[in-house]
Amino acid sequence: MAEPILPAEPFLPYGRQTIEDDDIVAVSAALRDDFLTTGPRVEAFEQAFAQAVAAPHAVACANGTAALHLAMLGLGVREGEVCIVPSTTFLATANCVRYVGAEVVFADVDPQSGLMRPSDLSEALAKVAGRRVAAILPVHLRGDVVDLPAIASLAEAAGALVVEDACHALGSEHLSDVSVAVGSGRWSAAATFSFHPVKTIATGEGGMVTTANAELAKRMRRFRSHGMARPEGGDPWWYEMAEPGFNYRLPDLLCALGQSQLAKLPRFAARRRALAARYVEQLAALAPHLVPAASPEWSRPVPHLMSVLIDFDALGLSRFAVVERLRARGIGSQVHYIPVHCQPYYRNRYGDQRLPGAEAWYGRTLSLPLYPAMADSDVDRVVEALADALSVP
Ligand SMILES: *Cc1c(COP(=O)(O)O)cnc(C)c1O
Repeated sequence: MAEPILPAEPFLPYGRQTIEDDDIVAVSAALRDDFLTTGPRVEAFEQAFAQAVAAPHAVACANGTAALHLAMLGLGVREGEVCIVPSTTFLATANCVRYVGAEVVFADVDPQSGLMRPSDLSEALAKVAGRRVAAILPVHLRGDVVDLPAIASLAEAAGALVVEDACHALGSEHLSDVSVAVGSGRWSAAATFSFHPVKTIATGEGGMVTTANAELAKRMRRFRSHGMARPEGGDPWWYEMAEPGFNYRLPDLLCALGQSQLAKLPRFAARRRALAARYVEQLAALAPHLVPAASPEWSRPVPHLMSVLIDFDALGLSRFAVVERLRARGIGSQVHYIPVHCQPYYRNRYGDQRLPGAEAWYGRTLSLPLYPAMADSDVDRVVEALADALSVP
């Protein structure tokens, strides 16, 4: 007799969006508007976002990569200058520097947290060799916050601006004497966010730049729409272009979705924190061969990734084998990130480099499922499968 077919447990990806009925209602309403793009929902979303991260200004754009590019354009970063980027990040953090013709100097990261430390930044600054450092782009990896005050003072001493890649860190806070929201602009010229489906809020594609600098916000809005400006007092059809820009606009449809999603940030954040805390508690049983990524004491993250560090060598296992064993049990995982300095493009451009922290992080990291719709029992299921996959009794 054939085996009874058991209902398969649902597949748990490493990340996914949470779209609810009211999000669908919000987008449906926007579809009936006069403006599908360049309408009033753009400013409404920008204002709500600025308020959510306590930033004076927010500029919505097509995606997180466009947000980074707009920041570079708005700040006037150009050929002949260099920017410092941690190697443990998504490609876009480095690529935006190349979009404007500047060169990338890669900084190392803490192998326990994946974050660029002030000491990593100092080492990178020592490699700059006489060139002008235009900007430093720290990344709040996994939602954990870098040591921004220290990075900002090193940047200031080097005459450089700070652009936070906050694509992982919507809702995260830096705890010092007071708590400071990531993206508020207290220690940076600008911060960039992404609304890709795996990020904390989703619009499909979408991004935002926040800044405390009104003039910078104005320039980025211009670059977002072809470089067009409409001087005051001009004829109604009149526009001028001083420098070519791009079409990096976020349509009203997606701004409607973004605003609806943003209203859920406190709930999404609480759920992510609760799930991450449950993971940390349960994963303690798998130490010392598996430990969660370290979180600095000043960081109050909204966890974006549930990254763990696995000592594959000590276990005599490959990461591939662990990923496959998890997949066989319906559990997705991902690796964040392959060090960007190891990419062929950057190796061809800058030669082979060793950044031991970023390489050590890459050698051990794995991101486990984490998103608000997960049940507590899903965490238990992942940890159980992981324990089996690692064959730890
Ligand atoms: C997602 C992400 C980006 C790019 O955002 P997109 O919206 O996908 O263009 C940039 N940097 C980091 C760290 C990211 O995670």
